[in-house]
Amino acid sequence: MQPLQDSYGRVATDLRVSLTDKCNLRCTYCMPAEGLDWMPTSQQLTDDEVVRLIGVAVGHLGVREVRFTGGEPLVRRGLVDIVARTTALDPTVETSLTTNGLGLARTAGALAGAGLHRVNVSLDSVRRDTFTALTRRDRLDDVVAGLAAAAEAGLGPVKVNAVLMRGVNDEQAAELLGWCLERGYELRFIEQMPLDAEHRWTRDDMVTAEEILASLEASYVLTPAEEPRGSAPAERFLVDGGPATVGVIASVTRPFCGDCDRVRLTADGQVRTCLFAREESDLRGALRAGASDEELAERWVVAMRGKAAGHGIDDPTFLQPARPMSAIGG
Ligand code: SAM
Ligand code: SF4
Repeated sequence: MQPLQDSYGRVATDLRVSLTDKCNLRCTYCMPAEGLDWMPTSQQLTDDEVVRLIGVAVGHLGVREVRFTGGEPLVRRGLVDIVARTTALDPTVETSLTTNGLGLARTAGALAGAGLHRVNVSLDSVRRDTFTALTRRDRLDDVVAGLAAAAEAGLGPVKVNAVLMRGVNDEQAAELLGWCLERGYELRFIEQMPLDAEHRWTRDDMVTAEEILASLEASYVLTPAEEPRGSAPAERFLVDGGPATVGVIASVTRPFCGDCDRVRLTADGQVRTCLFAREESDLRGALRAGASDEELAERWVVAMRGKAAGHGIDDPTFLQPARPMSAIGG
């Protein structure tokens, strides 16, 4: 076993696997209304190829956690099978899914049956008009049903991810928290990052962690949760003394790069050492050219050495990566 260690001594054990760049929502902070030029199918890893590369990461490189994402992973036809084959790997790994929740009501049982451990569902507002404005689709009911089905299927603790947009849903933080608390979902707010396809992110428009906490504190008493944050990106707070918590992922204003334990695999088989990396390492080409598992593992180890110390959003020379979030795998 060779660890995926970078030149700063960090070891990646958490693999984020993007299964598609396609999506059935059009969140304004992520995609343009007309969608994007989707990846040609020939470039996308097949189910067998995805499972093989996950197997290399788990069997040779010490990966202990696999999170499926996208684009929208529920639109990938082979998802349940990919999950089942991942949970059957030896050694066993923690598996989770980040989804917008559309269709989760239908699939949650099968995913749990395939051995999936947990889901994170993205939900930025529980008001129909705001949800529709943000996602450009009137599908709030599907997400709500998906969340309930996930909890029912035992895919918990069910987490909800929310992004706040100034002038759109930033006044609704406490309302969203109340809604999640009533249902036993763990809410985490994510600061908006410069990863939108249209490059419209600006620091001034971004709702900061500090603003989010101030807005929640108008309705709730928040106290830092006891346990150390470790490599977890969310800073967690007990709500009104607990046990319920709320998290804030301050990727921009309080970066956690020094403790990062993540590595990413795109749907077209590229290793990315960071969401903001400007370089990728091609595993698909090597795999299709007949590389052995050991050779693929070696390429992955070499790729990891190039991981940057931090995302550098505050650096004047910062450049947004060419791929948007939906094509990297958030
Ligand atoms: N489609 C799935 C979903 O929405 O959960 C999975 C992929 S999505 C890219 C993963 C997460 O990234 C979602 O929680 C979404 O809200 C978040 N996200 C997308 N664009 C973002 C941005 N520019 N800044 C911060 N978070 C973003
Ligand atoms: Fe789709 Fe997720 Fe991007 Fe929204 S955030 S457009 S659901 S990939």
